[in-house]
Amino acid sequence: MNPVALITGASRGIGRGIALELAKLGYDVMINYLGNAEAAGQTIAACLAAAQTTGRTIRAVSAQADISRAADRQRLLALARSTFSRLDLLVNNAGIAPRTRADLLDASEESFDHLIAVNVKGPFFLTQLAAQWMLEQQAVRAQAGAAAEPFHPKIVTVSSISAYAASVNRGDYCMSKAALTMLTPLFAARLAADGIQVFELRPGIIDTDMTAPVRAKYDALIASGLTPMPRWGTPADVGQAVVAIVQERFPFSTGEVFNVDGGFHLRRL
Ligand code: NAP
Repeated sequence: MNPVALITGASRGIGRGIALELAKLGYDVMINYLGNAEAAGQTIAACLAAAQTTGRTIRAVSAQADISRAADRQRLLALARSTFSRLDLLVNNAGIAPRTRADLLDASEESFDHLIAVNVKGPFFLTQLAAQWMLEQQAVRAQAGAAAEPFHPKIVTVSSISAYAASVNRGDYCMSKAALTMLTPLFAARLAADGIQVFELRPGIIDTDMTAPVRAKYDALIASGLTPMPRWGTPADVGQAVVAIVQERFPFSTGEVFNVDGGFHLRRL
C-alpha cells in the first residue's frame, strides 16, 4: 500500500512542487486547493506522469477546501480517510500574501483577520486533526505488534523567511509566518513520544504566482547580492527538502527548521 500525503495549497506553486516530488517517490497524494479546480487538475495529471517516470503507480485526488474554515478542514480530513484510509504526511503549505501591501501604519484589520485565519488558524487546526488521526493509526499498529508494517508519520509546515525578516509593507504576513515558527516546536514536543516527527520548511524567494507581482524587484535584489546563491528558488527546491525528510534521513530529529533560501538567512559582514 502506498504511503499517503495531504498537501494543502497544492494546485499551484510550492505545493505543486512538493506533490510532484512525493509522486515520484510513490506517494498517493491529496491535492487541496481553494478555488482553482483547473490548476488542481493539472497538478494531478502532472503527479500521475511524474510517478510513471519512476515506475510508480499512485493515486492522486483533488480536494477543494478553504483551510481557514473549520467545516472545510473536517470535510478535507474525512475525504482523506474515506479515499485513502491512512495518512503518512501532512504538508501545511497553503498560505496567502496580503491582498494589498500596505504600510504597517495603514494596514487594515480586515486583511489581518483573513490572513491570520488562512496562514495560522488553518495550519494549527488542520495539524490538530491530522495528528489525532495519526495517533489513532499508531494505536492500531501498536495492537498489531510485530506484524505491523513500519509507519513513521510526519507533519511539515511551510513558513517563510518572513518569519524573521521584517517587511513593513506586509506586517500581517510576517507575523503569520512567525507564528508558524512556534507551531512546529509545539507539535514536535507533543507528538515526539508517539513517533510523529514535525518539521518546518522556511523557503526564501521562490518563483511562483505569489511572487509574480514583485518579480522585477526581486530580480534586481538577487542580482545585487541579496542571496548568497544568486538565483530564484523553485518549487522543486522545496519539494526536494520534503523528499529528504520523508526518506527517513533524520530518524532522531524533530522540530527542525530547514532553510530553503539560497543562504538568505546567513549573516554576512
Ligand atoms: P501560490 O502560488 O499563491 O499558491 C497558493 C496555493 O494555496 C494555491 O494552491 C491556492 O489554491 C492555495 N490556497 C490559497 N488560500 C487557500 C485556502 N484558504 N485554503 C486552501 N488552499 C488555499 O503560493 P506559493 O508561492 O506556492 O506559496 C505556498 C506557501 O509557501 C505559502 O504558505 C507561502 O506563504 C509560502 N512561501 C512562499 C514563498 C515564495 O517566494 N513564493 C516564500 C516563502 C514561503 P488555488 O489555486 O485554488 O487558489
